[in-house]
Amino acid sequence: MIERARELRRAMTPQERRLWTHLRARRLAGAKFRKQMWLAGYIADFACPDARLVVEADGSQHANEAVYDARRGAAFARLGWRTLRFWNNEITENLDGVLASIAAALPSPSRAASPPACPSPRAGEGLMLGVSLSAEDDLDGWRDAARALAGAGVPAGEVAWQVGDAAQGLFAAEAPLPPPGPGFSVPRAFLTLAETVICHADPERFALLYALLLRLRDRPGLLADAADPLVQRLERMAKAVRRDIHKMRAFLRFREVETPEGPRFVAWFEPEHHIVRTNAGFFVRRFAAMRWSILTPELSLHWDGHALSEGPGAARADAPQGDPLEAVWKTYYASIFNPARLKVGAMLKEMPRKYWKNMPETALVGELVAGAQAREAKMVEAGARGGMGGNVRAAWESVRAEAMACTRCPLYRCGTQTVFGEGPLDARILFVGEQPGDQEDLAGRPFIGPAGQLLDRALEEAGVDRKAAYVTNAVKHFKFERRGKRRIHSKPDAGEIEACRWWLEQERLLIRPPLTVALGATAARSIFGKAVTIGAMRGRVHPLPDGGEAWVTVHPSFLLRVQDNKEAEYARFVDDLRRIGERAEALA
Ligand code: SF4
Repeated sequence: MIERARELRRAMTPQERRLWTHLRARRLAGAKFRKQMWLAGYIADFACPDARLVVEADGSQHANEAVYDARRGAAFARLGWRTLRFWNNEITENLDGVLASIAAALPSPSRAASPPACPSPRAGEGLMLGVSLSAEDDLDGWRDAARALAGAGVPAGEVAWQVGDAAQGLFAAEAPLPPPGPGFSVPRAFLTLAETVICHADPERFALLYALLLRLRDRPGLLADAADPLVQRLERMAKAVRRDIHKMRAFLRFREVETPEGPRFVAWFEPEHHIVRTNAGFFVRRFAAMRWSILTPELSLHWDGHALSEGPGAARADAPQGDPLEAVWKTYYASIFNPARLKVGAMLKEMPRKYWKNMPETALVGELVAGAQAREAKMVEAGARGGMGGNVRAAWESVRAEAMACTRCPLYRCGTQTVFGEGPLDARILFVGEQPGDQEDLAGRPFIGPAGQLLDRALEEAGVDRKAAYVTNAVKHFKFERRGKRRIHSKPDAGEIEACRWWLEQERLLIRPPLTVALGATAARSIFGKAVTIGAMRGRVHPLPDGGEAWVTVHPSFLLRVQDNKEAEYARFVDDLRRIGERAEALA
């Protein structure tokens, strides 16, 4: 149905296009219209959710479709929507009259601002308001409906949410939706939470989000209450969705298929939640130059190198099995496999067995695990520590080369180049900063500017060998604002940190440092995957899922900026580094 709506949007008739020119962007009486909107199992030509108004532009074929049109109009009316129909020739010959009729059906601003005229039905009377969403992840539809319902003061228990034309509850859709009432604003964090939770597989998610929305009206700070059961539940759901998004990005594997148009890369994936559309942008950016298809039970995505399209769901048998790409993945995986750090439990947790069948490298797991002891003994004998064979160097170089062409976030347009990490690949300590500065950007090396020099001095005073440490940044492109000839540092945002986290994870995966040190809040956010406060985390050991430890301290640039207690702050930083160095020695 969504694909059909998209087709209709692409193939609008000249009359529809003409009418849309006057309806779009709130051009008619300030009312927001959507085109080809899914509603009650039909696709309405144009719809204004705030006014619950459908506008249809009919061609001559509708003269023979009176029964169908009547049924369609009745379905809209059952949900409280009014329908205005116009013949195409009316739009061509009397556009002003058509627009005047539509404007007359829209609520005047004064009416829209008044309290709802129609009282909402009470649950005790057995009446429920039915809301149909166009898809499992229809955030726009949910937001429009929730806004109208909340504005009219409809309690959460009196709304039945459904997706598509799935059967409604017994009394759902018996009562019309109320007219819109006055709006209210919600914290940006709620919208972010809703964007994620809407993708969860739990059918209750729409109702839970709506219940939270109603409570936020009276208590805008509610989201900060970590003890609130509803907030807790929704946060848990968001976490599950984020994890599923990560799994799809990490465990999806393409297989090459020859087609008459050339090679196409096809992957099969079974997400737990409705995350496929949400993840589409990631795969488009990541594999922009390839022609690929991702097949899932719910829907399929197809990228032809220029445009993304959606298709119906598929079965696993529709995806090919095995191709030359497998050799590449297997080589890479074998090169980064470190028998000295083998933890089967952690490995299974990170890479659940359900994904193994899609991943060529998992064919190696049994063999590698079985041979781990022998390989580890060989490594010890060779004096190697931490899996430092030439294979790790080759894998690091190939990851670095790939990062040089990275376009995962808009920052690739900034600065001169990707500034990847550097240092020995068997480093015991991996320092993570925020992002390269002006000098680092030009030289293509991390920590060589004023902050890097201060770090060198502090490490020396702390007795830590800088040459034995690996240094890198959470974000690998220089983000700046231009002021005259100067390029002024600009803080990376959460999306940029998240996008670049992938590269940091690759570095950590290859180096496996016993200690990872976050220098500042951006680095800490990247390492822990969430915002943290330096004050609360500083000076303590934080175990990481891969068995290593994280330490948190300030970024040396803070010490360059700070005015109060400058010397004391520097001394504290050196003390942090001394403790980190001692810990690294103890873990050796
Ligand atoms: S900042 Fe990181 S994610 Fe963004 S383009 Fe540069 S290397 Fe890629």
